[in-house]
Amino acid sequence: MGVDLERSRGAVAVATRYEEVWAAIGHHPLEAGEPDIDAMRELAADPNAVAIGEIGLDFEHTGGPDRDQQLSVLDAMFSLATELDLPVSIHNRGAERELLDAIGEYPRLRGVMHYFTLEWEWAQRFLDAGFYLSFAGVITRPSRQTLREVVRQCPADRLLMETDSPYGNAQKRMGVPNRPAYLIDTAEAVAELRGVAMDALAEQERANAHALFKKMR
Ligand SMILES: [Zn+2]
Repeated sequence: MGVDLERSRGAVAVATRYEEVWAAIGHHPLEAGEPDIDAMRELAADPNAVAIGEIGLDFEHTGGPDRDQQLSVLDAMFSLATELDLPVSIHNRGAERELLDAIGEYPRLRGVMHYFTLEWEWAQRFLDAGFYLSFAGVITRPSRQTLREVVRQCPADRLLMETDSPYGNAQKRMGVPNRPAYLIDTAEAVAELRGVAMDALAEQERANAHALFKKMR
């Protein structure tokens, strides 16, 4: 995931170097300034760039761009994703209502709600809008029963997983930086919660990723 233009370039460089890595071009809602849409459009044409992200709204963090600025950047990025027919990866903190409204303005937009932690009513609304839900290590915490119920109820063909490393560790690895390799912790929790075998889950996840991130070969 790219959080600004420079780090989106870095993501493409890593994806170019490693066959199993894919990049996304984004401008995080807490980044200052306006994204350079022309430069992002150019970068997104790279065969290794498969999505627009991380983008979204963060109304809980204080000191960053205000709501109007965030909404204006979001609109520009949704418009770019629609133009390029690329999926979006959406960050949300305290802005689910505004995000759902914004998604509703772009009927051809598709994507994933990254690090999903809301209750089932919200899950359903984003699923109804055609979005995928991506779950991270937080689902391994026994205290998160409501979220774990969403993991159980999510349709199999709309479920994705992520680490959000270096954040979002599983319960058993609290206190150390997260890594992509630790996705296995989340996968094990998803398999257990849904009562599916790990190899079946792996196959489903591969299919889901390819269905959403169509540029992945
Ligand atoms: Zn995020």
